[in-house]
Amino acid sequence: MRKTDLHVHTTGSDGLLSPEEVVALCRDNGVVAVAIADHDTVAGVRHLKAAADRKPGSGSPLSQTSFFFEGVEIIPAVEINTELGEKEVHILGYFIPLEGDSEFDTLLEILRQSRTERVRLMLSRLGEMGLPLELRHVEKLARGESVGRPHVGKAMVEKGYVSSVREAFEKYLGVGKPAYVPRTHLAPVEAVRAITRAGGVAVWAHPATSGCDDILDELVDNGLCGLECIHPRHSSEDVLRYSSLARDLGLIATGGSDYHGPGSDEGGELGEWVVDYSVVELLRNARRRKTGNPLDTPRRSSE
Ligand code: AMP
Ligand code: FE
Ligand code: FE
Ligand code: ZN
Repeated sequence: MRKTDLHVHTTGSDGLLSPEEVVALCRDNGVVAVAIADHDTVAGVRHLKAAADRKPGSGSPLSQTSFFFEGVEIIPAVEINTELGEKEVHILGYFIPLEGDSEFDTLLEILRQSRTERVRLMLSRLGEMGLPLELRHVEKLARGESVGRPHVGKAMVEKGYVSSVREAFEKYLGVGKPAYVPRTHLAPVEAVRAITRAGGVAVWAHPATSGCDDILDELVDNGLCGLECIHPRHSSEDVLRYSSLARDLGLIATGGSDYHGPGSDEGGELGEWVVDYSVVELLRNARRRKTGNPLDTPRRSSE
């Protein structure tokens, strides 16, 4: 098996490791290809691409859909968290263009702005509960441009209000908890459409955690290409069920660790939740079918 992890976060959003550190860990753990899928931003991938371009020996640029950094293939991706009533639906987008789709960039920008706005509202709720926090403090903990609840949780730990980020979610920040604020309403189908319009390939992330399989047909009708079957929050029954759903519907069964960094409460270990590289080829074929663009096969230049 050529180990491929199709779901990893970095300091671009709420991951703890920088993109370079993630690549180093991939090398250590024998992962040959990784999709960096930060929440609402491709800044981490852009940063890595710029670094790869400055290092001719590293082997890049290679293709329109991926590139190599230190010998590891990097797939530009994004994770968009949407809401459907009380349910959370996360959509992964693969092969996100790094330069140029201004419509998609604008959507991500709007989503990031609404993240900041949402954090502001959560802080005012916490303040009312006698747990004051500065927005500056939270923004400093978010090393990238995409701020979120984990950064609020971390700030709460630093202030001594809770002993872990998990506790912050359980007591204050989780859905239905006193400081919870819903995100700006973006329907799952809108995320699927936006990714597809931008030339990307949309996949439903950890669908078992959403609990709304009934929307699957609508998502497929709007361009969904795959289901994330292998995921640390999926039981072995979930893996089987979504793999067979994928087979029945002609969707690609994908998988990844949702790695958020060493010691993070979220996600699994990088290298332990993987699929074979052939899944990348399936995703790339799906993209080719949708965009009709044949010029996207990666070639390794000088290593
Ligand atoms: P946000 O994007 O601001 O809505 O925050 C969601 C992020 O919080 C997810 O991407 C996870 O990384 C993290 N998260 C969600 N639930 C928990 C939890 N119970 N404990 C710790 N982190 C969590
Ligand atoms: Fe996250
Ligand atoms: Fe997710
Ligand atoms: Zn994720």
